[in-house]
Amino acid sequence: MTSAPAYDPQNIFARILRGEIPCFKIYEDERAFAFLDIMPRAPGHALVIPKAPARNILDIAPDDLAHVAQVAQKVAKAGKAVFRADGITLMQFSEAAGGQEVFHLHMHVIPRVAGVPLKPAASIKEDMAVLAEHAERLSAALSA
Ligand code: 5GP
Repeated sequence: MTSAPAYDPQNIFARILRGEIPCFKIYEDERAFAFLDIMPRAPGHALVIPKAPARNILDIAPDDLAHVAQVAQKVAKAGKAVFRADGITLMQFSEAAGGQEVFHLHMHVIPRVAGVPLKPAASIKEDMAVLAEHAERLSAALSA
């Protein structure tokens, strides 16, 4: 077993949080931030992250994790309504061996339509206009 490296403040989601890289934001409060995955596995695929630095499930403060879960629930309900989904898939990967590629904790919230398989992970960059439209609809549902 290897010990995890320290949190890297240059990871891409930390840079999104600092506004250094654009994203399609759908929700923000004092402790969490949510935006669309740029390579969605299904329409409405969102990522919920804590504002506090945390690499993954192994180092996040329990209160921040609880808050991320609460926001993920809001995003799940909005995604289900906006995309007329039949269900939701939540995913969280920790460390490379667990499938993690970006090392700032994130919870994937993916609306699912019955019988439609997920697209492969991190494979196809969605059209920016489509992401903008999805983000607008999700933001509206989340602020209603
Ligand atoms: P994981 O670390 O859980 O394996 O996945 C990282 C996720 O981040 C992938 O689903 C990938 O599509 C997404 N991703 C990678 N780079 C960016 C980016 O620059 N912007 C956004 N919005 N998502 C990204």
